Amino acid sequence: MKVIETVSEMKSYAAEQRDAGRGIGLVPTMGYLHEGHLSLMRASATQCDVTVSSLFVNPAQFGQNEDLDKYPRNFERDCELAEGAGVDVMFTPTNEMMYPEGYRTYIQVEGWSGLLCGVTRPIHFRGVTTVCCKLFNICLPHRAYFGLKDAQQCLIIQKMVTDLNMDVEIVPMPLVREPDGLAMSSRNVYLTADERRDAARISQALFAARDMIAAGRTDAETIRNAMAGHITASPLARIDYIELVNTRTLAPAAQAGPGTLVAAAVFFGATRLIDNIIIEG
Ligand code: AMP
Repeated sequence: MKVIETVSEMKSYAAEQRDAGRGIGLVPTMGYLHEGHLSLMRASATQCDVTVSSLFVNPAQFGQNEDLDKYPRNFERDCELAEGAGVDVMFTPTNEMMYPEGYRTYIQVEGWSGLLCGVTRPIHFRGVTTVCCKLFNICLPHRAYFGLKDAQQCLIIQKMVTDLNMDVEIVPMPLVREPDGLAMSSRNVYLTADERRDAARISQALFAARDMIAAGRTDAETIRNAMAGHITASPLARIDYIELVNTRTLAPAAQAGPGTLVAAAVFFGATRLIDNIIIEG
């Protein structure tokens, strides 16, 4: 696996691959890789001629009191895992390269960036769309792979690509879970043993919500209350939000049904975890 550290080298490599007629797949990550990331990499390696993954802890998507400085990092291990998953190029730019002195251009998907996670993280999605747009311009992917662990992120990036006529296909990939149901996340490493045990309550509440909906109990308020009750049975949990929205419009759903996104963000100590399910139909 080739490691590319500069924007200029990455751009020329990508342009060469395009000129040679090769299909490029991109998997953007912030590193500290786990099976969720690797599933995206394997899909790209299977479907594209060349797989580029980026490893960049994007400062533009972190608020002032968030975990930018302590975000977990392990470059050597990430490279080994990525190579094993079929990545051809790991792109690892520095902050200074991505946001040089005088940088002032940002992309924002209006409205949607302020919903769900955007309520308590108001600049987050502006940072995500900006860095993804930059990565698309630098790595020139035909396809870019995103996990449904971050369902709102997938929807926002898809919207940006559609609205700005970008020439890249966004491929949403299934959420990968730990054996007890907890959504895999680089941030799970922050959890104490007790928090880690109780964090499984988030997915348990989501699965129970899916069962309620399948049984015809579709009132959003009832579902939210049942979920909140199950999660806050742990004294370690503090709910940021539990929402039911339409996956196409992100508008609140009063009644759940096919196409409803049930999404939750819950703090365990200082660690904020997110998870969701999409109701199929
Ligand atoms: P991150 O490094 O957390 O920014 O994630 C990079 C990519 O991996 C994003 O597209 C995430 O949605 C995806 N991802 C993270 N965790 C999971 C997971 N548990 N299952 C599937 N995809 C994931």
